[in-house]
Amino acid sequence: MSSHSNRLAIETRAIHAGQEPDPLTGAVVQPIYTASTYVQEGIGQNKGYMYSRSKNPTRSTLEACLADLEGAKRALAFPTGLSAAACILELLDAGGHVVAHHDVYGGIYRLLAKVRNRTAGLKVDFVNFSDIEAVRRVVTPATKMLWFETPSNPLLEIVDIASVAEIAREVGALTICDNTFSSPYCQRPIELGVDIVMHSATKFLNGHSDLLAGVVALSDKLPDEVVDELVFLQNSVGAVLDPISCSTLLRSIKTLAVRMDRHIENAAAISAYLDEAQTQLRIERLIYPGLKTHPGHEIAKRQMKGFGSIISFAVEGGEERANRVAQDLQLFAYAVSLGGVESLVQHPASMTHKVLPVARRQQLGVTDNLLRLSVGIENVDDLIADLRHALSR
Ligand SMILES: *Cc1c(COP(=O)(O)O)cnc(C)c1O
Repeated sequence: MSSHSNRLAIETRAIHAGQEPDPLTGAVVQPIYTASTYVQEGIGQNKGYMYSRSKNPTRSTLEACLADLEGAKRALAFPTGLSAAACILELLDAGGHVVAHHDVYGGIYRLLAKVRNRTAGLKVDFVNFSDIEAVRRVVTPATKMLWFETPSNPLLEIVDIASVAEIAREVGALTICDNTFSSPYCQRPIELGVDIVMHSATKFLNGHSDLLAGVVALSDKLPDEVVDELVFLQNSVGAVLDPISCSTLLRSIKTLAVRMDRHIENAAAISAYLDEAQTQLRIERLIYPGLKTHPGHEIAKRQMKGFGSIISFAVEGGEERANRVAQDLQLFAYAVSLGGVESLVQHPASMTHKVLPVARRQQLGVTDNLLRLSVGIENVDDLIADLRHALSR
């Protein structure tokens, strides 16, 4: 279905891609195949399935849908975003040089700087990918991978995707874009020249805060050997998404477009309110790529549809006031994660980015007075009233 469905709009593909009615029963929703093993007809004879770690029909359906949405040759479903990231890193030989964005998700930083540098000898340089010349300066012919996210977490820095892909091509390195904050509805990095897209599908793709999942999507420009190698690696490390979660995620993706439209609309209205009332609400720094004052605004406008639904801001009054604001919010639950239908607020310095050394955090701008909102799809006037109340006290 994928080559045909690429001509249809993403709203349509989110519902139909990879999913034909079940030939056995006509069921319009894909069956959940819980079997771990499959009867074989003889030596070397089977229906394409042998053991569910290697291949499972429900997972295959989800992967076909995800590949279609990202414009990818192939997608693979993992139990978490981090297991997807870890499997991508298995593509590298020991000692490889990786250049990563300085403001990557805390868990990706931990995996690179505290695990794989020790267990695989990876040499990792962290630079600011929103400064394309800075990337060019650290990349060498020995560089194997360029790893970034855009918008980044929690500072919402915007990376020029096509320019990074071009630098990588010059030295023969792979580009990995963590597309978690945008979802394929807002941004499709493979179309801009990226080799591999990864997701924490725990966030917008699932969107209901009720499962963990990860995705790897591979560009059709990659040689088949790289795609085959990643399939081999996933089977080798055994990191596969279970069929019930595959089915739940397939269902969630059907509403991706309508959820994202509302997420984006709400975040735009909230950022406009906070911008206008910034002095009164004693907000020291407001960060949202949709604001014209955001340094990456023009690039975001070019490569994204909408500006996402994450807003970060630093309050006057330090950590103490940040904590009070977070606790005074009623509709924004004080919790990590993002991308669900419900609004959340979190404190990066003590939560998602606690793993960063203090000096590094300060230097980046992940200050003690910084809060990050994940704007949900509730009524926007209710959300604004909640923010006004918590920030006016
Ligand atoms: C949450 C997140 C991850 C990690 O994904 P898990 O599903 O929690 O393992 C990676 N990158 C980004 C940008 C995230 O927000």
